Amino acid sequence: MENLNLTGMSLHELERFAESLGEKKFRGRQLFSWIYEKRANSFSEMTNLAKPLREKLERDAAVGHLELVEKTESKQSGTHKFLFKLKDEHLVESVYIPDEDRRTLCISSQVGCALNCAFCATAKLKFKRNLDTGEIVDQVLFVERDLGIELTNIVFMGMGEPFMNYENVIHAAHLINHPDGIGIGTRHIVISTAGVVKNIYRYADEGHKYRLAVSLNSPYDDERQSIMPVAKKWNMEELINAVRYYTKRSKQMLTFEYVLFDGLNDSAEHASALKKLVSPLNCKLNLIPYNSVLDQFKRPSAKRMELFMQQLHPLNAPVSVRWSKGDDISAACGQLAGKYKKSG
Ligand code: SAH
Repeated sequence: MENLNLTGMSLHELERFAESLGEKKFRGRQLFSWIYEKRANSFSEMTNLAKPLREKLERDAAVGHLELVEKTESKQSGTHKFLFKLKDEHLVESVYIPDEDRRTLCISSQVGCALNCAFCATAKLKFKRNLDTGEIVDQVLFVERDLGIELTNIVFMGMGEPFMNYENVIHAAHLINHPDGIGIGTRHIVISTAGVVKNIYRYADEGHKYRLAVSLNSPYDDERQSIMPVAKKWNMEELINAVRYYTKRSKQMLTFEYVLFDGLNDSAEHASALKKLVSPLNCKLNLIPYNSVLDQFKRPSAKRMELFMQQLHPLNAPVSVRWSKGDDISAACGQLAGKYKKSG
């Protein structure tokens, strides 16, 4: 039988687990602290547990299941791409992005993705399965241990659609945030959705405090539908209504992501329609120059992007450009496809 993975269990679940072994409840809290606060990856390190218990745990349980297949470093930016193998041989990727005093990890929530956005490499894998909570949280613990660092920011922008794996993602975010565990603040955790409207409402109603980002990519409904099939299920009006509901209910600002494609969504008309769409909302706008995946799309020239920014002016929302790092190692936004390239 497969060892029970304790990584991914909440404090309550670990307490119940301890009790199921005939141990006192507080052993669960000790396990919680070892796994998430001290980032232990073996039971032998857990020196305040009695030896027989440690041996039992070594036999029947595990702290994390991820196996590192490949780590690639971008000399250009310091970005690291981690390729992990899961218990069932599926592959997922996480990307570490250092930036001044920020240490961000971009994590995956699914193997593949069902949404089939035309411009994203993960879509080409189709959907295989959801990651469980442990597999999501373990990306954070593994990278921290491997690089000997403490991460400051987490973005759910790796492989998969977080809001199509809603419960495990929220559960994982809680563990990443827990003050007695990994301890990353709610405002330093970003969940990005392609626009799964029903779960934007759910997220708003449940009152979570992690930052929310929505991938817009076009101000026009028909065009958005042609590159993001999820927009056929929930159209622009429904999406914008959900965003408005979220910002009002949570009193939080939302970030719109807008990937810039040459000749597709970077015209003056687009800028003006985008401005009209987002101005009434409590939001930020994050422009992402397209990272090459398919020949069908191209990144606009620097000059065109500059012009687009100017055309947005004056905008009643802060605008930033996210120059994805790590495109030299296929680790930038939209380039994650869990590919293992054997070198040599
Ligand atoms: N499924 C979620 C999170 C993963 S993608 C979502 O869609 O939001 C994270 C961001 O990368 C999204 O804003 C997406 O639009 C963007 N993206 C996807 N492919 C890209 C590419 N080839 N170049 C640049 N950005 C891309």
